[in-house]
Amino acid sequence: MLISGAEIAKKVHAETKQRIDALKSRGLTPGLAVVLVGDNPASQAYVRAKDKRAAELGIHSLKHELPASTTQEELLSLVDALNADPALHGILIQSPPPPHIDEPAIVRAINPDKDVDGFHPLNVAKLALDDPTGFVPCTPLGCQRHLIEAGVQTAGARAVILGRSMIVGKPMALLLMAKGPGGDATVTVAHSRSRDLPAITREADILIAAIGRPGFVTADMVREGAVVIDVGINRVDDLIAPKGYRIVGDVDFQNVAPKCSAITPVPGGVGPMTIAMLMANTVTAAERLVS
Ligand code: NDP
Repeated sequence: MLISGAEIAKKVHAETKQRIDALKSRGLTPGLAVVLVGDNPASQAYVRAKDKRAAELGIHSLKHELPASTTQEELLSLVDALNADPALHGILIQSPPPPHIDEPAIVRAINPDKDVDGFHPLNVAKLALDDPTGFVPCTPLGCQRHLIEAGVQTAGARAVILGRSMIVGKPMALLLMAKGPGGDATVTVAHSRSRDLPAITREADILIAAIGRPGFVTADMVREGAVVIDVGINRVDDLIAPKGYRIVGDVDFQNVAPKCSAITPVPGGVGPMTIAMLMANTVTAAERLVS
């Protein structure tokens, strides 16, 4: 079975739209600021997609595209202004910023109540503490929703996550091990220092690949009947593609898919769901002001 993130994202957007309409009927329009520093083409594409989707849903959307020469102080003062703006309920600083920017310091400066990316230390702690008043990072939240929507039994399942980043792997592990729907799994997190990766991944009922290596997960690394969620977004050269490249995941889809009971495609999988969860988190931030 192919788990279509694009289709599930449509369902999430429809739910989000209803919530936005309900807020608007109470006189509140949710607002999201998306900030990009520099001219990384992939980041530009993500920021435009987020801004466009927000506008389509009726979220008040504010896009700041700043030059790569923006200083730490300039970015901090923008964050201060966005924190203070009552029309904005969510703030997202597109990662990664240019190397001269101290990203953790910028994240710490965001008001945790507007941190719809879920990267602020307070929100990281709330996830670890099973405190539902925080925000959960959008990509792992979207992966979990994939599993729930596809009817995948996570309780008691052996889940293996490839990658331990703060954006994907680590919060994914916390979500899958938490009690409740989409959780209760037995979780292993593997990374570049893990010994004998294929032996680890072959134990997975649910395998989540988030390492940023095109086609890294090959058929011999996957158990027959496993569920595979491919988070990877990698550009590979393709001379016959109109742009000269195409996007592939971390999984060798063609050879792995026949072994799986369910798998997500790239593109059209986790990517659209990440945006859907960002919109949902923004609306949650606004709802918390009036509930
Ligand atoms: P990071 O580079 O921050 O982390 C990569 C992780 O993979 C690290 O933990 C690293 O291990 C591990 N890793 C790298 N190479 C290997 C290897 N050969 N064997 C085992 N583990 C390895 O990446 P992100 O988590 O930010 O992103 C991962 C992928 O997901 C990327 O392709 C990215 O583009 C994509 N992504 C997609 C999103 C979406 O919306 N669909 C959103 C965010 C990311 P170590 O810690 O030891 O270095």
